Amino acid sequence: MRPEYREEPCKTALNRVTGMSFRWSLNPYTGCVHRCTFCFVRAFERRADRPSDDRYGRSIRVKVNIVDVLRKELARKSWQRELVAFGTATDPYQPAEGRYRLTRGCLEALADVANPLSLLTRGPLIVRDVDAFQEAARRAEVQVSFSIPTLDTEVWRKTEPDTAPPEQRLRALRTLVDAGIKAGVGMAPILPGLSDDPEQLAAVVRAARDAGATFVWANLLYLRPGTREHFLENLARDWPELTESYDDLYAKGAYLDRTEVDKVRREVKELGVRYGIADRRVKPVEPRPPLDEDQPEQLPLTA
Ligand code: SF4
Repeated sequence: MRPEYREEPCKTALNRVTGMSFRWSLNPYTGCVHRCTFCFVRAFERRADRPSDDRYGRSIRVKVNIVDVLRKELARKSWQRELVAFGTATDPYQPAEGRYRLTRGCLEALADVANPLSLLTRGPLIVRDVDAFQEAARRAEVQVSFSIPTLDTEVWRKTEPDTAPPEQRLRALRTLVDAGIKAGVGMAPILPGLSDDPEQLAAVVRAARDAGATFVWANLLYLRPGTREHFLENLARDWPELTESYDDLYAKGAYLDRTEVDKVRREVKELGVRYGIADRRVKPVEPRPPLDEDQPEQLPLTA
């Protein structure tokens, strides 16, 4: 079924966020055609009284004026150039970006005012904007995470039905790192009993290392109302033998037991050390130090 695209202008571009490591987010689209069964955005949709079931991702709002709105917000005297996170409620490189180029426009607007940014995506389309990332990274901190929770083909196909294969995301990662951009892998969400086996985790970390990842981080599945029903329905269809253990694991609420989460995160961290995940960029693109206008231009003393 072809998604419907609704061109609807927005009134604001930057969203204030609480309880996260960043305070501002930016989403040029609402809804995501990738339609992952575990997508946490389904919970937001439920709260907003929009469909969170199989209809999620069939109708995408395109904020056609977001670049202009963003430029105005960035020009405000009150704006402190805090980090802006892309991809918090939709994939900024889902197919619509191929046509609308709103993510690119927002990147350029942030680069123009030397604003730091981070971006999370499953979309290999990102490679088209390598030049825009380089320009942004010359002016401020830039960090890109590719969501790659697993390399297991069956798990990928069934839980991320409309995304590009993980190998394609790894190739995109390599392109960005080779271009000097700080980029790595977010193993999220890791699914208990489906993608948390030590061998599966090791396979992702090794592949991330081989693709040049400068970092790896991990997060486990959480199931808020809206996401919970859809995910468990799909689980019952695809892996009925796991339904009972999920009922137990998530009996207390949306989150797994803390010890379980810490165990997997620790494992991923240790794998990162074992496989040598580190910033190994050959020609890193970093912000230039600001020009000191009070100092005369420094000329070399010898020819
Ligand atoms: S790519 Fe991200 S935003 Fe899109 S459906 Fe999957 S989890 Fe949700």
